[in-house]
Amino acid sequence: MTTAISSPLAMLGGAPVCQGNWPRWPQTGPKTISALERVLQSGRWAVSGTYANMPTADQEFATRFAAFVGARWCIPVDHGSNALVAALIAVGVKPGDEVIVPGLTWVACASSVLRVGAVPVLCDIDPDTLCIDPQRVEAAITPRTAAIMVVHLYSAMADMDRLLDISRRHHLPIIEDAAQAHGARWDRAAAGSLGAVGTFSMQQGKVLTAGEGGAVVTSRMEMYEAIEQLRGDGRRYSGAPPQPGRPDLTEVGLVQGWNMHLSEMQATLLLDGLDRLDEQNRRRQQAAAQLDAFLSGMEGLEIISPYPGNTQRTFYHYVVRIEPDAFAGRPVEVICEALSAELGTWVHPSYRPLNNHPLYQPQHYSYAVSSATAKRLDPSQFELPQTERQVEKIVALHHPMLLAEANQIALIVEAFAKVQRLADVLPVGGIR
Ligand SMILES: *Cc1c(COP(=O)(O)O)cnc(C)c1O
Repeated sequence: MTTAISSPLAMLGGAPVCQGNWPRWPQTGPKTISALERVLQSGRWAVSGTYANMPTADQEFATRFAAFVGARWCIPVDHGSNALVAALIAVGVKPGDEVIVPGLTWVACASSVLRVGAVPVLCDIDPDTLCIDPQRVEAAITPRTAAIMVVHLYSAMADMDRLLDISRRHHLPIIEDAAQAHGARWDRAAAGSLGAVGTFSMQQGKVLTAGEGGAVVTSRMEMYEAIEQLRGDGRRYSGAPPQPGRPDLTEVGLVQGWNMHLSEMQATLLLDGLDRLDEQNRRRQQAAAQLDAFLSGMEGLEIISPYPGNTQRTFYHYVVRIEPDAFAGRPVEVICEALSAELGTWVHPSYRPLNNHPLYQPQHYSYAVSSATAKRLDPSQFELPQTERQVEKIVALHHPMLLAEANQIALIVEAFAKVQRLADVLPVGGIR
């Protein structure tokens, strides 16, 4: 280590601080393969298949995940993006309505609003947490606003006390996107359980995953009934005693649905992963505390300070902000590449602001036909000064790194110190 830290930057051919043997993700456990084998032999691979003498893994996961979140119901779906679509429809968002969405998040938050024919209104963030700024939310409300989409980003929850207060005063439902926050808590309530509807993603990179997957949670009966049919082409579990070899879904059709079921293999992987989630979240919290202690003491680095109400954090990414001046003025993308080379794993720059994002181009969506609609959708009309400032500083470490042992976590601190000391020999740009 001492040789690596005094050697030239790994990006420029020197010895790296770390060889890169970070914990892999996704992970299997001792029971994963046998559980998958059982479902493969069971004769039922899909919720829409016929009854095979036991409840589906989908039902079992729904029960356990609802309990995990402390919501009355969970409806598993195929993707986090579709969880958002189902949530938007369930809370009553109609074509032409506006939905307030944070300016810094994964593009699915805005594109899901497009898919229900509504207009995403981009809202700036609070620089301390990187989550949507309640004051900006209130200022963005118009007579056409139909819902507020709140995202708990990277490692911090949005200010739920103030957002719930705004929701009550303006009679606007909150859709709580907890795709990055499985297990996080606001006081005693879990992320996803505070809004009218909560959504989760179980895509490969998330802290609970089946490769692809998602879930919607709610404690409101009417939302539950709508979402169950929305995800099942209008069908839902009948609740009557099932007959082997016959479907146990019944055709209801009170709402127009689509197929958003996830397979029984995916539900099985989620049940298996849920067994390990609490323990993994605890280990990530410990590693994050170790990093916070060291990195917050370094010149030009700033850690995330969550709201006091965010009593338990889930680390999807560990984020530290760099002050470019403390890194010879180099762009954050260059710093991330230098850190990636030192650590032997990809150190991520931030999401880009949604008002200027290559993957969020609503003018190319089919219903932006009239110039009036195109104008309402144009993301460049939204001003996001804090988002734009923060993305120039964000360095994000993906959560599997936080499952490493303490001595390997210490190498992250060494890498920051080395890159900072030698920043003046880094290229000035041209990375992206
Ligand atoms: C991952 C993610 C989604 C989308 O989930 P998919 O399962 O990839 O469709 C939505 N919102 C946020 C905040 C995410 O991180």
